[in-house]
Amino acid sequence: MKIFAIGRNYVDHAKELNNPVPTEPIFFMKPDTAIIKDNKPFFYPDFTTDLQYETEIVLKITRIGKNIGEKFAHRYYTEIGIGIDFTARDLQNKCREKGLPWEVAKAFDGSAPISKFVSKDAFNDVHNLNFHLDLNGQTVQHGNTKDMIFSFEKIIAHLSNFISFRMGDLIFTGTPAGVGPVKIGDHLQAYIEDALMLDFYVK
Ligand code: MG
Repeated sequence: MKIFAIGRNYVDHAKELNNPVPTEPIFFMKPDTAIIKDNKPFFYPDFTTDLQYETEIVLKITRIGKNIGEKFAHRYYTEIGIGIDFTARDLQNKCREKGLPWEVAKAFDGSAPISKFVSKDAFNDVHNLNFHLDLNGQTVQHGNTKDMIFSFEKIIAHLSNFISFRMGDLIFTGTPAGVGPVKIGDHLQAYIEDALMLDFYVK
């Protein structure tokens, strides 16, 4: 399986990092070694001093496909979850200055803690879905999927023009404003609506 991640998919987050609002989805990838499951801890890596959380709704692809039309894209994901796109912001800023790829800042081991996945039918409308992150019991980030620049369907259509989907591929769909640093000992809890989905510590 592979992991896609969308950058700058919420206007308020693009602005907080002084990035232009994109006219088509920006994506990068993480390897499967980035995944942390089952609320296992994240171990703070020694190559960064500015490790930041980005809380994102994650789609699980449940059908193979390529060149998928936007109006059919909803058939390709049946489950959603929530995850953290951990980012070594100091390394990412260096990459951005030099116009280099982001993998060093985004694709390292453990950079993608994910929740369990639930059927999208469990929600009234996945295009109007609240989610938030609590850091040590305080809400630090909240978003709603209606504020996405590119919908789930637009993302799927765009990505599938370049890379085929296989069963089990994941798509991190972008973070809203409020990203910030973590430190060793921090407790992260991510919710979709009122359901606690992801609950882990930084060690
Ligand atoms: Mg992100």
